[in-house]
Amino acid sequence: TSAGTIHGRPPRRTRATRTIRNLIGGAAVDGIRTFDKVDPVDGTLIARVHEAGPEQVDLAVAAARAAFEGPWGRMGVAERARLLRRIADAVERHAEELVAAEVGDTGKPETLARDLDVARAAANFRSFADTIAAAGLDSYLTELPDGRNALNYAVRKPLGVVAVIVPWNLPLLLLTWKLAPALAAGNTVIVKPSEETPSSAALLAEILAEAGLPDGVVNVVHGFGVGSAGEALTRHPGIDGVTFTGETATGSAIMRAVSPRVRPVSFELGGKNAAVVFADADLELAVAGLARSTFLNTGQVCLCTERIYIERTVFDDVASALADHARRLRLGRPQDAATTTGPLISQAHRQKVHSYLDLALEEGATVLAGGGIPSLGGDLDGGSWIEPTLWTGLDNSHRTVREEIFGPVAALIPFDTEEEAIAMANDTDYGLAAVTWTSDLTRGHRVAQRMRVGMSWVNTWYLRDLRSPFGGVGLSGIGREGGRHSLEFYTEPTNVCVQL
Ligand code: NAD
Repeated sequence: TSAGTIHGRPPRRTRATRTIRNLIGGAAVDGIRTFDKVDPVDGTLIARVHEAGPEQVDLAVAAARAAFEGPWGRMGVAERARLLRRIADAVERHAEELVAAEVGDTGKPETLARDLDVARAAANFRSFADTIAAAGLDSYLTELPDGRNALNYAVRKPLGVVAVIVPWNLPLLLLTWKLAPALAAGNTVIVKPSEETPSSAALLAEILAEAGLPDGVVNVVHGFGVGSAGEALTRHPGIDGVTFTGETATGSAIMRAVSPRVRPVSFELGGKNAAVVFADADLELAVAGLARSTFLNTGQVCLCTERIYIERTVFDDVASALADHARRLRLGRPQDAATTTGPLISQAHRQKVHSYLDLALEEGATVLAGGGIPSLGGDLDGGSWIEPTLWTGLDNSHRTVREEIFGPVAALIPFDTEEEAIAMANDTDYGLAAVTWTSDLTRGHRVAQRMRVGMSWVNTWYLRDLRSPFGGVGLSGIGREGGRHSLEFYTEPTNVCVQL
C-alpha cells in the first residue's frame, strides 16, 4: 500500500544561506539571536533569521504608530486604492522571486506556489482596492415624534496599529489576505510571519516599499510564539487589534493576551472538515474533487478534507478510486512539473502527522493507501516526507476522526441516510468548511445550508470569490473576512447624528 513515486533528478546544488532581518520603519534591524530555517525537501539550511525580542517589537509598534499619525493616516481612499493596485502589479512583476521564496520555505510544488499562492497574493490586493473604493456608508433619516428629522450617518475610521500573525501553510496568500484589507482601511501593521516561513514576508516588504508604501506602514518582526515575538506583540499595549490565522490553541492564547486591554480579534483557526458523497453524485468528478481537497498542499490547507462520508451503496467504488488517486500522486522536487505533492513543513510536523498514522492503527483502521514515511532516496531522505494516506474502519468516536491532523490523510466512513450524513459531518467542535457531492440540486442546497460551518461547497472545493465571507464557527474561528466583511474588522465606525 505504499503511496507515491519519486520523480528522480540529481541532487540539488548546495545553496547559499541567506540572512533575514526584521523590517522596522523601513530599516533592516537585527534581533536578539538568530534561528535556522531549513528546506523541508532535503533538510538543507537555507536561512538564518533574526528573532525579534521585546525591544524590536517595541520599535516596530512605535514605527507603526508614527506612520499612522503621519501622511499615511491622512491619505484619501482613492489614493490608497491606487497604491494597492500598484502593489498588485509589483507582486506580479516579482512573481518568480516570490515563488522561489515560497517554495524554498515550504517545499511545495512550484506550479502550486505560482498558481495559488502568488496569484492570490496579487488578487488579494486588487480585490480590496475594489472593496474600499466602492464601500459606502450607512445613513438613516430618523423621523422624530414632533415631525422633525435627524440624520444619522457612520464615518469609517481605521482601527490603528494592527498585529497580523500568520501560519506557514499558505504564507503569502494568508498574509496578503489580511494585509490588503488592513491597508485598504488605512491601518498600519506589524506582521509576524511563521518561524517556518519567513522568506516571502521579507520579500513582500521590499516589494511594498518599491510600490511606494511609506516606511513604517508595514513592519515585519520574525520569531516564534510563546516567549518570543508573537507573544510580545499580542501583549503589547500599543496594538489596537489582532488578526490571526493558525491553530485554535494559539487563538485561545492570543485572546488571553489581548483581554486585559479588550482589543478586537479576528481569528481563522483550525478545522476537521467533512465531505459528504451521495450515491447520486457524478462520482468521477467527486473522486477528483476529494483527491484535491484531501491532498492539496500535502493536506496542509485549513480547508482540507480529513473526514469523507460516503453513501454505503457507492462506498467501495469511491474508496478504491480515491485510493488509486492517492497512489498516483508524485512526491518529488518542487521544480519538477510532474510533482503533485511536496513534503510536510518540518520534521516536527511530520512527527505529529506520523503519530496519527500510528494512532489510526491502534484505533483499528484499515490502511487503504499510504500509511507511512516513504523512502525517496538520496538527499530527499533528509526531508519531511509522508505518504498520502486513506483509512477505512474508523468512525466519529475515534481521535483520528475528531482531531485536526493537518496532513494528506482522510478517514472514509459509510452512511445510509442524508440525516445521518449531516449529523456525522456536524459532529465536531470545529466548523470551518464542508463539501457536498450530489447531482440533486435541491439536496445540494438543503445539505449545504445545514452544515455547521463558515464555508459550505457543493460539487467543488476551495472555489473563492474574495467578496464572500470567509471564516469558521466553533473552534474554527471568530469573525469573517472577505470583501466588506473584512472592512468591518479593520475599521471602527463613528456614528454622527445631526438634528435637522
Ligand atoms: P500556529 O498557531 O502554531 O502558528 C501560527 C502563528 O502564530 C505563527 O506565526 C506562530 O509563530 C504564532 N504563534 C504561536 N503561538 C503564539 C502565541 N502564543 N502568541 C502569538 N503568536 C503565536 O499555527 P501553524 O502551525 O503555523 O498553522 C497551522 C494551523 O493553522 C492549523 O491549525 C490550520 O488549520 C490553521 N489554519 C487556519 C486557516 C483558516 O483560515 N481558518 C488557514 C490556514 C491555517
